[in-house]
Amino acid sequence: MKLSIVIPCYNEQEVLPASYDRFRAVMAAEGYDYEIIYVDDGSRDRTGEILAGLAAGDRRVKVLTFSRNFGHQCAVTAGLHNCSGDVVIIIDADLQDPPEVIPGMVETWRREQANVVYAVRNKRKGESRFKLWTAKIFYRSLNLLSDFSFPVDTGDFRLIDRQVLDTFLQFPEKHKYLRGLFSWMGYRQVPYYYDRDERLAGQTKYTLRKMVKLAAAGLFGFSKKPLKLAISLGVISVVLSLAIVLWVLYLQIFAADRIVPGWTSTIIIILFLGGIQLFTIGILGEYIGNIYDETKNRPEYIVAHRLNFDREADCTVARPSTENPNRQD
Ligand code: UDP
Ligand code: MG
Repeated sequence: MKLSIVIPCYNEQEVLPASYDRFRAVMAAEGYDYEIIYVDDGSRDRTGEILAGLAAGDRRVKVLTFSRNFGHQCAVTAGLHNCSGDVVIIIDADLQDPPEVIPGMVETWRREQANVVYAVRNKRKGESRFKLWTAKIFYRSLNLLSDFSFPVDTGDFRLIDRQVLDTFLQFPEKHKYLRGLFSWMGYRQVPYYYDRDERLAGQTKYTLRKMVKLAAAGLFGFSKKPLKLAISLGVISVVLSLAIVLWVLYLQIFAADRIVPGWTSTIIIILFLGGIQLFTIGILGEYIGNIYDETKNRPEYIVAHRLNFDREADCTVARPSTENPNRQD
C-alpha cells in the first residue's frame, strides 16, 4: 500500500522544516511506502526555497509550485490530481493536525474497510473565540440550509482511498468545497476523533476574506435554499405592502382629514423594498457568477513548476476536466 500525503503551503517558511521532520519520523516508524506532495500556493516567503531543498534531499518529496496564490482548496485539488498512492491523506502544513494520528487513521481505514476516514476535532487549541464561534455557526447553518447533512467539526483533514480519489478526479466543477464534496460522495465514511493542536508557528493564512469565500463556496455549492429565500422574502414583502395599501385606502376613505403627507411611510416602504430587491439580486448574482466561472472553463490553478514528478514539465496548465493531463501515475 502506498500512501500519498497532500500538503498545501502558503507562506509556511516557519513551520516547513519541523513539519517535514515530523511527517518523515511518523512514516519511518510505520515503514510505509509513501510520497509527500507539497503544493506551494504562490508563497512569497522562503517556502519555495525550503521545498526545493527538501525535494533535492528526498525523492519522496514532490513539489508543485503555483504561478500565484489560488487558495487552499485549489492547492489541495492540485495535490489530489497528481498523487499516485492507494490511500491519500489531506493535511495542513502547520502541524495543527498532528501527523502522529495518521497511523491511527490508516488503521481505522483497514479495520472498518472504509473508503473515507474523516478527522473530527475533539478539542481545538489556540484558536480565537471568533474562529470557533464563526465555524460553529457556519457548519450548523450549512446543515440547516443544505439538502444534505454534513458532519460538523470536520475540516479537510481526512484519508481517502483510491476509489474515492478516482471518483473525485472525474468531477469537472471548479468552485470546490472539498469537505462537503467528499461527504456528499457517499461510500463508506467513518469518523476519527483527535485533538487539534495549535499552529506550530506563523500566522493563520486563512484571512477573514478567505473564510468568507470558503463559506460561500459551501453555501452556494450545496444549497439552493438561498434562491428560494428570494421567493419567500418577495411573498412577505408583497403581503406587507398589501396590508399597507389597505390601511392607506382606509384612511383615504374614512379619515381623509387626518392624512398628512406620508413621508415616513414612503421612506420605510422604499427602503424596505429596495433592501429586499438588492438582497435577492445579490443571491442571484452569486449563482450566476458561479455559472459564469464554470462556463469560462478556465483552469482552477496553474502549475509553474514541479519537482520530483516522473514526467518533468516546465509549465503545465492543469485542466482538471474528466481527463486530467496533469495527473501522473
Ligand atoms: N493555505 C494555502 N493557501 C491559502 C491559505 C492557506 O495553501 O491561500 C494552506 C496553509 O499553508 C495551511 C492550510 O492551507 O497549510 C491551512 O491554513 P491555515 O493553517 O492558515 O488555516 P487555519 O488552520 O487557521 O484555518
Ligand atoms: Mg492551521
